[in-house]
Amino acid sequence: MVGECENGHAFAKKLLCGREWCPTCGANKSDYHNRRISRWLPKAQQLQTIGYFVIEWPLSSRHELRTKESLQDMGKRVKGAFQSWGYKRGLRRWHFFGESGTTYNPHINVLVDGRWIPPGELRNFKSYLRQVLDEPQLIINYSYRKTAPEMMHTLRYVTRATFLDQSWDYEIAEAIYGFQNSQSWGTWKAETQWELSMEEKDELNLTQIEKLERGICPRCGEPITWSNPVPLALVEAIGGKYIGAGYYELPPPGDPPKRLPSTQMQGCEDWLFSVKQVAHNIAENKRDEPDYEVVHSPVYLFREYLRGQNIKTSSMQRVALMMKAKLHGKY
Ligand SMILES: [Zn+2]
Ligand SMILES: [Zn+2]
Repeated sequence: MVGECENGHAFAKKLLCGREWCPTCGANKSDYHNRRISRWLPKAQQLQTIGYFVIEWPLSSRHELRTKESLQDMGKRVKGAFQSWGYKRGLRRWHFFGESGTTYNPHINVLVDGRWIPPGELRNFKSYLRQVLDEPQLIINYSYRKTAPEMMHTLRYVTRATFLDQSWDYEIAEAIYGFQNSQSWGTWKAETQWELSMEEKDELNLTQIEKLERGICPRCGEPITWSNPVPLALVEAIGGKYIGAGYYELPPPGDPPKRLPSTQMQGCEDWLFSVKQVAHNIAENKRDEPDYEVVHSPVYLFREYLRGQNIKTSSMQRVALMMKAKLHGKY
């Protein structure tokens, strides 16, 4: 998809399926993994130290967590328990499988404001959780992270995919279709408490990605309108610069490449074909209009097509010009 803000800053976004078992999306450090990290990072950065709870169900009650509803429900109960114990804000996310396991092992990761918790207090909280979640054998682990690298590591770890092969449990794979796994509670308007290393900043480009994920232009803060899908080859052909996590920044409208390289045009052929078809239909419909010459011009037809795809003309103006030759004389 391509998108543009009202100030003409243009971007492209790769469509990703986001499935945990997708070989592309499920991989560590994948574009999708980085998108997940970017969504949580601004919140996680407000936690001065991260308290990290992992709550795991015993074998005997895992079967109760085999539907989307039950996972959502349990997630809410976990949140409620943390809230009533005094945790005003937190992040939570399920892992569906353990480090090495291929058997379903749902456990929920909870990140909160962390500190060292005296053993007695921790014991009390654990028994409270076992009681309100109605499972006396819950396995609960707590640790906390003080340094930025540790916190970043935990963030990567918690947001990673764990359901790496659909065949591990087809039933669960189907059950969690469309499941909103990453959730947060509380208000997040505090100052940033820790920063990424320069390397991580360069590698992840998260400040830009985070805004783009929210549909905000990283250049000026205005909302971005996204279009219908266009081929990635086209984005590359018009000089899109990769910025990370499957996002590209497109060159400003005043700076078009001279022409589309034919090698890159090969990836756009199907798309071009559909453009031509739509253009042809538009031309047919306007056959009797007095300004037929105008509406029959390839650039006009291409603009009409772009409008139909919710692609703002200015960001693709240069493409319209380059398409002129391609479209000319084809209908
Ligand atoms: Zn995918
Ligand atoms: Zn902008």
